[in-house]
Amino acid sequence: MDPFWAVISVLLGLVLGSFFNVLIYRLPRHESIVKPGSHCPHCGRPVRPWENIPVASYLVLRGRCAGCGWRIPLSYPIVELMTGVAALLLYGLVVTPAIPAMHSCGLVVQICLTVLVLLLVIPLAIIDLFNFIIPDVITLPLLVCAALLSFLPGGITPLQCGLGILAGGGSLFVVAIAGEYIFKKDEVMGGGDIKLMALAGAVFGWQTAFLTIMMAAGIGSVGGILMIAFKKFAREHRIPFGPFLTLSLWIAVLWGDRIISLYFSFVDKAFG
Ligand SMILES: [Zn+2]
Repeated sequence: MDPFWAVISVLLGLVLGSFFNVLIYRLPRHESIVKPGSHCPHCGRPVRPWENIPVASYLVLRGRCAGCGWRIPLSYPIVELMTGVAALLLYGLVVTPAIPAMHSCGLVVQICLTVLVLLLVIPLAIIDLFNFIIPDVITLPLLVCAALLSFLPGGITPLQCGLGILAGGGSLFVVAIAGEYIFKKDEVMGGGDIKLMALAGAVFGWQTAFLTIMMAAGIGSVGGILMIAFKKFAREHRIPFGPFLTLSLWIAVLWGDRIISLYFSFVDKAFG
């Protein structure tokens, strides 16, 4: 890993995280993401350029609006830091190992799509955490792009892409229908989760989609119990599934091969 590009990745990640905060605040409110410029939601004071520096400005302003003293949510610097770390992980674990093989156009596209999707699921997860929705404006265009780009040689094939959509979106769709039938609740699994996993399958294939769903169910059951125990985010006992899917997708894409081979060596030892 090249230290110079590692630092650049973190800085780009921090700036991107700052933009993600805009998406997280405005998308659920159906506001434009470009106009008006950043302003304090409490007093409307425009954010000066020096107050818009990721993490640093939050620390300098001690977490308060310079105009009215409104407490800036801690989620702002956290999202910025998370995106910075995410960008570093993507540079080190996705981009760097792929550089020697980057002569096919399809592979370059595949890497770009991987980075783009893994970054954009961050604001989606946070939006779902606070609002119980995963906006289609991000998932659907990416899904269409992924399906079209699969026709380029060198990356995922159209067949793998289609199987991935079925594995990711289709299996959650079945769970949603079964859940409605069994629990007689109108929405056990949101449509946003289904589209998110269809996208994951389209970009990363059916194996990653299945691994993601299985891990999310595991992490989700533990996390869900904790959330209810601490009465956090568990409004009417509803728990957003998107954050668990996102965390699992990251683990499945970055370390999925290792997890699967560990699993099979464990099965071999236990039953072989
Ligand atoms: Zn203010």
